[in-house]
Amino acid sequence: MEECIFCKIIKGEFGTKFSHEDDTCVIFQDIHPKAATHVLVVPKKHITSIAEMDDADEKTVGHLIMAAKKIAETLKLKGYNLHINVGKEGGQEVPHLHVHLMSKFS
Ligand code: 5GP
Ligand code: ZN
Repeated sequence: MEECIFCKIIKGEFGTKFSHEDDTCVIFQDIHPKAATHVLVVPKKHITSIAEMDDADEKTVGHLIMAAKKIAETLKLKGYNLHINVGKEGGQEVPHLHVHLMSKFS
């Protein structure tokens, strides 16, 4: 089975610049930004969506929220939105869990 696009990005196959990287996640710019700031917080582990996460993924998903909070602080954003699409019918285009961090501030 062909690997998903975000797994390839995480492996560095496209030379994507990461705003942040740690053992659990990476953060990079959305290719089609819908706000002044629009980055994606993506777990290194391939979890297809929130609907597919299991109990063992709870810490990983919590880590994504904490990473989003920290980069928002680094960027000195006054306010922001965190958004997760779940499943194709929920508007999820890329089947690898990710948190959208969007802000009208940059
Ligand atoms: P979803 O609809 O799955 O919640 O969001 C997927 C997001 O990934 C979209 O906002 C889309 O612009 C972004 N995206 C899709 N392919 C790529 C890519 O190859 N690189 C980057 N940086 N973003 C991508
Ligand atoms: Zn993946």
